[in-house]
Formats: sequence, C-alpha cells, structure tokens
Amino acid sequence: MSRVQVDRDRCVGSGVCESLAPEVFELDDDGVLQVHREEPGPDDLDAVRDAVQSCPARALALAE
Ligand code: SF4
Repeated sequence: MSRVQVDRDRCVGSGVCESLAPEVFELDDDGVLQVHREEPGPDDLDAVRDAVQSCPARALALAE
C-alpha cells in the first residue's frame, strides 16, 4: 500500500498538490494542508505522483 508523506515544515501552502489531486489534497480555510487519503488507491496514484513531483517546496513524498 502506498502512503503519502507530508513534510509540514517545508509546505508553503501553494496549493499545487490540491490542483493536481483534489481528491487527496485540500488546503483548509487556514491554509493548512489536509490529506484526505493518506493511502491513495490505484485511481489516485498518477495524480499523487504528479503532485509529489510538482510541489515547489519538495514537501511531498509517496512511500511505495
Ligand atoms: S504543493 Fe507542496 S507546498 Fe504546495 S500545498 Fe502542496 S505540499 Fe504544500
């Protein structure tokens, strides 16, 4: 099972991950990243990989 890892010290709240994988990532009203599916299913994996690679702060990882 793959698992999303967020380095919250690095996250700058840009929202890139949310735009690429909105089923998995969401910035709340305070700009804090919420991860709705810490263990994304097969249908989410491509979008999550995109988000990991596109995060400008290199704050995301996917442990597979
Ligand atoms: S793309 Fe990276 S920096 Fe931006 S909200 Fe997501 S985890 Fe944080």
